[in-house]
Amino acid sequence: MNRCPDCTCEIAERYCPFCGYDSAMERVFVVQDQKRFDIGAAKSFGNLVFLLDEEATPYDESVVATLHDKLSSYTPEDYLLLLGNPCLIGWTVAIAALYSGGPVKHLQWRGKTQSYIVVEVDLKTSLRAN
Ligand SMILES: [Zn+2]
Repeated sequence: MNRCPDCTCEIAERYCPFCGYDSAMERVFVVQDQKRFDIGAAKSFGNLVFLLDEEATPYDESVVATLHDKLSSYTPEDYLLLLGNPCLIGWTVAIAALYSGGPVKHLQWRGKTQSYIVVEVDLKTSLRAN
């Protein structure tokens, strides 16, 4: 039995019956759900999973626990979309690297082509993957 990283209910099948999350797809973990930004293009990389809501701040007692909860299944195949408060972004990358063993993939917006590019790094070996 797996846990849906989006709505945190238990799922036994490929699709979460509550939110439609597809467990066979890669995931794009978004630090904060900031509705004024259109991140629709990131959906082509995988399921969007929002880690924290728009109002979350580094002063909230629960944010580190929430990040650990949602990122505990982070793998080198998943992506991070670094949108939100800079402290929360830093903690997200650190915690994701902890669970992946070092490698993390980021989606970076490129205004010139109006699309995301993938930036990979292994924080454990200090070698850039590309
Ligand atoms: Zn769900």
